[in-house]
Parts: sequence; structure tokens; C-alpha cells
Amino acid sequence: MAVDLAKVAKEKKIKYFLISFVDLFGVLRSKLVPARAIGGMQKEGAGFAGFAAWLDMTPAHPDMFAIPDPDSLIILPWKPEVAWLAGDLWMDGAPVEASPRVMLKRQIEKAAKKGYRLKTGVECEYFLINPDGTAISDDRDIQEKPCYDQAALMRRFDVISEICDAMIELGWGPYQNDHEDANGQFEMNWDYDDALVTADRHSFFKFMVKSIAEKHGLRATFMPKPFLNLTGNGCHCHASVWDKTGKKNLFVGRDEMGLSALAYKFLGGVMHSAEALCALFNPTINSYKRINAPRTLSGATWSPNSVTYGGNNRTHMVRIPDPGRIEFRLMDGAANPHLLQAGVLAAGLDGIANKRDPGKRLDIDMYADGHKVRGAKKLPLNLLDALRNLQKSKVLNEAMGKEQIDSYVKLKSEEWSAFGRHLTQWERDHTLDC
Ligand SMILES: [Mg+2]
Repeated sequence: MAVDLAKVAKEKKIKYFLISFVDLFGVLRSKLVPARAIGGMQKEGAGFAGFAAWLDMTPAHPDMFAIPDPDSLIILPWKPEVAWLAGDLWMDGAPVEASPRVMLKRQIEKAAKKGYRLKTGVECEYFLINPDGTAISDDRDIQEKPCYDQAALMRRFDVISEICDAMIELGWGPYQNDHEDANGQFEMNWDYDDALVTADRHSFFKFMVKSIAEKHGLRATFMPKPFLNLTGNGCHCHASVWDKTGKKNLFVGRDEMGLSALAYKFLGGVMHSAEALCALFNPTINSYKRINAPRTLSGATWSPNSVTYGGNNRTHMVRIPDPGRIEFRLMDGAANPHLLQAGVLAAGLDGIANKRDPGKRLDIDMYADGHKVRGAKKLPLNLLDALRNLQKSKVLNEAMGKEQIDSYVKLKSEEWSAFGRHLTQWERDHTLDC
């Protein structure tokens, strides 16, 4: 045992541990364990009933256990007597394969066998809204182009700086915070790292932002499109593949964009599976109001509607912002942090293995001239189409396991059906007099 959590508890004066796991819907679930019991929990794990979370299990399944990963330990900066741990789910002595952190680890193992290591950074956009969720929290934040608005940013200095200070303390290397393109919307950036570290941090970041916002009497939402007239919450993912030592970026190459042949194959893989990946990257009913959206108040949606890539051009699904790095702009704030990374890696590895060609770079404004592009695949218009694409994706079924994909599609299809049982005001407005 590399790290003895009981010892850490004494040294750091930790009174409680949150032993957590993320389910297939991205919900962070935990047990709050007093320090006196952490020694046993580190070995045996914290027990949970799988059916009670969004996992494909029945009430008859035996207990599952979240075995905490000591490397993921984070002392809550805003409540230092509590520490958080990411856990891997086990049942009957074996890992739960249809659970997001295990699914990501499987892709990382596959990449490692080929000598590859995926490093990523995520840009988690969020809104600060009022506690009842009906409006943004700052009623003076009304500019038509509010991006980078210094005054609106500084009116939320107390919240933003507390979150940024926390990231500094945690050693994440935060380097900038800004007001984003929608009124009430913010983004905070920290250093990229190995995909698993980024996924764990991404989970924790959402928890931290919501917790600190609440402390200040506000509410934070990562919902993909909480306000129809405003830009939605994206969660762009910057990716590069490194050698197994993590010292050499294998995406750096000599073409005009500074990318290697390997990078283009990886990109080709993600583009090949994009319509199916939407089920993981855009996992909610609401997600499809962000992609394929009409113009917003600021003049642009900043989100894609077809499968294309450009250079340093934000109107495409994929941007190449710098040498040795690719930005995937499809993901939204509802994306499951671990499945997001697992999906990128699974599709990227397929691209490398099968030498997928991403086609030609399009140096056009997709928002203005997208209709002139011939042959580009369109993104699904709703969750059901995305789920159907995922279900029939040979690449993702093979890479991530048919049983795992079946579990995910089954649960998400139930969500789609539940949505279908709602009678909306729109239907009444448009159909009552039919
Ligand atoms: Mg942004």
C-alpha cells in the first residue's frame, strides 16, 4: 500500500473522507467516512447498492464497493477537515466494467500497451444563476457581447477567486479565469495532465464550483443550454498523445499546423465516430439545444453542427489551436468526465490502428458558409439519434465493450422515454386547435 490513508488523516487533521464514484449519468456519489474507519475502507472499499445509482443493475445485485484511489486524494479547500477520494467500483471481487472510471482505465491500459499516453485539458463553462434556477444571478450583466466583460467578472470576484485560490492550493496550475460569451457565464482554466487525472479533477471541479457558489448564496450550473437565447455551456477538450514516459508529445509534427501523421490519424478516428460519440459527449436531452442551435444574442453559438475541422478557427467541431494539440469542441457541460476521456481515447486509438483519414482541413467560417460544404456529416439532432448511433457503432462497441455500451444505451433510452411522457406547453400551444 503506497499511501496509508489513516496516517494521512492524522498528519493532515482530516476528520472525514468522501469515498466517491461517478455513475453512468455522471452523478458524483459518495459515502462520508469518519477518519477512524478509513483504514478498513481503504482495503475493502465503501459499500453501495448499485441499483440505487445510474448503473445497469437490479435490486438483487450484491453490494458493490468503491475502492478509493489514494492518488486522487483532495482536501476540500473550503472545508479542510474533509478529504475527497475518487473510487473504482468492484463487485464479487471483480471491477464493475460498466462504470465510467473503470471504462476510462481500460482505454488507458490499451493505449499504454501501444506505448501511448493521452494528456488532456478541459474547459468547463458554467453559469452563476439565482438559487431557484430561473435567471442569471447578476441582473446588471446584460451586454449583448458580454465575453471578457471585466466589470461583470469583477462583480463575481469573491466566488471566482475562491475557486481559483483553491486550484492553486491543490496544485492544479490554474492560469486564467474569464467571463464567457453568455451573460452570467464563466470559464476557468487549469493545466492539462494525464486523462485520468483530468477526469478526476473535472468531477471534483464541478463539485467544487457548485459548493463554493452555494456558499456565496448563488447556484452554478453546467447545463448545456440553460437559456435558449444565450451561448450554451461547452466543455472543450484539448488532447495530445505522448510517449509512455510522458516526456515527448507525439502530436508535434512538421506540417503547416505543427501536427504529426499520428495526430491526424487520431483526429480521423474521432471524426469517424463523432455521431456516436455524441451520446457520450452530449448526453442529455438538453444537449441538443446547444449543438445545432440557432444564433444567440452574442451573434454566435460557438458550438458545431457538423463533423469538420479547421485550423485556429472556432466555427468547426475540431480546432487546431497550436502545434501538437487538437481541441475537440463537441462536448458540453453535462458530459460524464470519465466517459468523455474514454470516448476520445477509444475513437482516437481506432483512428491510429485503422489509419483513419480526417480529410481536408476546411479554412472557412462554418457559421457563414457551412451550407456550401459538401459531404460533411451532420451531428445528430437529438439524444435518441445519438444513442442509436452509439448502439450501432462497431468501433465503440469493440473498443469499450458491447455490454458496457448496452448498459449505457439502455439507461439513457429510458431517460429519453421518460422525457416522451411529458406534455409540453409547446405541444399545447401548437396542437390544441389542430
Ligand atoms: Mg469557452
